[in-house]
Amino acid sequence: MIQDIEPSKLVNVYRPDAVPAPDSVICFIRNGAAAMQFREGQPLSLPRFRECPEDAGYFYLFTLDDEMWFLPEDPALDPPDAYSWENLRVMRQKASAFRVAFFGLYTAFHLASWYRSSRFCGTCGSPTRPGDTERSLICTSCGNTIYPRINPAVIVGVTNGDRILLTKYANRPGITFYALIAGFAEIGETFEDTVRREVMEEAGIRVKNIRYYASQPWGIADDLLAGFFCDVDGSDEISLDSDELKEAVWVPREEVTGQPNDFSLTNHMMMLFKAGREPR
Ligand SMILES: [Zn+2]
Repeated sequence: MIQDIEPSKLVNVYRPDAVPAPDSVICFIRNGAAAMQFREGQPLSLPRFRECPEDAGYFYLFTLDDEMWFLPEDPALDPPDAYSWENLRVMRQKASAFRVAFFGLYTAFHLASWYRSSRFCGTCGSPTRPGDTERSLICTSCGNTIYPRINPAVIVGVTNGDRILLTKYANRPGITFYALIAGFAEIGETFEDTVRREVMEEAGIRVKNIRYYASQPWGIADDLLAGFFCDVDGSDEISLDSDELKEAVWVPREEVTGQPNDFSLTNHMMMLFKAGREPR
């Protein structure tokens, strides 16, 4: 999965005093895209501090192996001319060889969306400033503290003997591969409640024997995903929510096909089922 980058290591300990070195990575992230140089068969290249305005102001994000990554404080700052905007959802399908850099980009994306949406206090509307001792933004007027926002969500492998429920989204042009039922936890729910509700809403199926499998940070949706398997309970007749999905089908193990790469927990769980290795 995308976070499985060993022996590389992403260290996200907050370092308020960190300043960019000439070779530090500067992440330019806007409208679902990141600035990069990406050509098939060539190394992926990201902007470096020495190519960027020195006095612009940069938030420290994390250290990936021996490189520090930063984010421009001004979301409108343009990247150096040599780099182009690449949509991260589209790029994901071509990025198999760049797992480490893409885990960095997904994590930077998540932090960037939080910094961008937390520039002003939601309580009183005053500007915020970075926290002194922990990753937070603090209101300069009322002291309200804003922590990074992580959206909990579930990925669900609904099994029916030797078949699994696979879906295709209704509104994701360009994405042709199958996925699993997925959805955000609502306030007041347990993950198991979310699993039951999402499967019922999207496919009209009742489930039982819900068992946790694994989790995954998925920064381009600000998510922390929790993957569960469960069994159909009673009727396996699908009633499709066509606002959300364009297709939901029971697929036999041997006919399950994967996504373009192994980045996602969804793909990992589908392949696990195909191999007959899902938790029972
Ligand atoms: Zn405030």
